[in-house]
Amino acid sequence: MWPTDLEKALDAADPLAPLRARFHRTDPDLIYLDGNSLGRLPATSSSLAAEMVEQQWGERLIRSWNEGWFELPERVGAKIARLIGAQPEEVLVADATSVNLFKLALAALRCQPGRTRILTDDLNFPSDLYVLQGVVELLGNQHRLEILPSPDGVQAPVNLLQETLDDDVALVVLSHVAFKSGYLYDMGAVTAAVQSAGAWILWDLSHSVGSVPVELHRTHADLAVGCTYKYLNGGPGAPAFLYIRHDLQEQLHNPIRGWMGQQNPFDFALEYQPQPGLRRFLTGTPPVLSLALIEPGVDLLLEAGMAALRNKSVQQTEHLIALWAEHLEPWGYTLRSPRQAAERGSHLALGHLEGWRINQALIRELNVLPDFRAPDNIRLGVAPLYTTFTELAVAVERLQRAVAAGLYARYPHQRTPVT
Ligand SMILES: *Cc1c(COP(=O)(O)O)cnc(C)c1O
Repeated sequence: MWPTDLEKALDAADPLAPLRARFHRTDPDLIYLDGNSLGRLPATSSSLAAEMVEQQWGERLIRSWNEGWFELPERVGAKIARLIGAQPEEVLVADATSVNLFKLALAALRCQPGRTRILTDDLNFPSDLYVLQGVVELLGNQHRLEILPSPDGVQAPVNLLQETLDDDVALVVLSHVAFKSGYLYDMGAVTAAVQSAGAWILWDLSHSVGSVPVELHRTHADLAVGCTYKYLNGGPGAPAFLYIRHDLQEQLHNPIRGWMGQQNPFDFALEYQPQPGLRRFLTGTPPVLSLALIEPGVDLLLEAGMAALRNKSVQQTEHLIALWAEHLEPWGYTLRSPRQAAERGSHLALGHLEGWRINQALIRELNVLPDFRAPDNIRLGVAPLYTTFTELAVAVERLQRAVAAGLYARYPHQRTPVT
């Protein structure tokens, strides 16, 4: 009975369906719903990895730096720019998201002398809060970090943010899509409100890049950072990206200076002179292999187009909500994501008192891979490049069975280090 004719018809009518075959898959029965944490492996990434290692590294050796490696941070950045509505010279690939956030937040605060408040919310990714706490300390505790509380753990404190903005706010740092509930901020409205108070906005796009259309330039966003190993399918630990709006680039300075951001690194001058433009935000030598492997996943998203991906993603999360209401709510699952598609990214959080043990049953015996976010959220990530409607229906049946048949009760309460 699962999937029903409805899911079969939706899959048959899906214009993006052929793209699923462009990903590496060894277990045809595995239902992978964690593309929002680690995207699947694009088939061409395997062959590119072999070529990078055997030819570019193995044969060409040091010559490869002049045969494409040196420009990789801007070249791959320019491709990501097309996914987030930025201009090619506004996006650079470097370091981890947390490190880029540190660099941009510190640089921005230095451009806002006299303003002491930094605003964020409690839906934000904790690493972002840790980075900001560290920045405040490093600048001598002259700033105050204010973490605005969400009214219900699902919706962002949008009204509170509006009311709280004043001419003492230097910087507002928000996740465009919240990692737990999947709440999607209205980038245009928030950016305008922040800027009308004279503050700068720094968006973390980790959960929105490749999953919802992002329009940095049209919304006139100041700064952004984001991750490449989630919906971009760039591979575990692949370097992140940063965005600085064109007209701000000359005033911002990288607080982690290094030779890769120096004007002519191979002059080996003794005094630091930053490169013009974005490249000054490089520090050390980029991780060439994992940087290069970001490109095949980005190419697949560009081929599909963000509008088509968003259409499918909305259709899929709507379908999943309908299935939840009919088959899961009666078994104690609660919906912890916004009901309105316009306020939602591409994953759903379901709460359940036995969330951790259900998750274990799904992973260990039901061949479904979601993930778990404390205290009791099961996250179901929809990656429209490769997730099918059939998979969603089968996953719902297994979520129901895990409770209805008491399968979860065989698993311990104890958590593993990575959830
Ligand atoms: C995944 C994620 C990150 C990842 O940060 P790293 O420093 O690259 O590990 C940062 N912010 C958000 C909102 C995320 O979802």
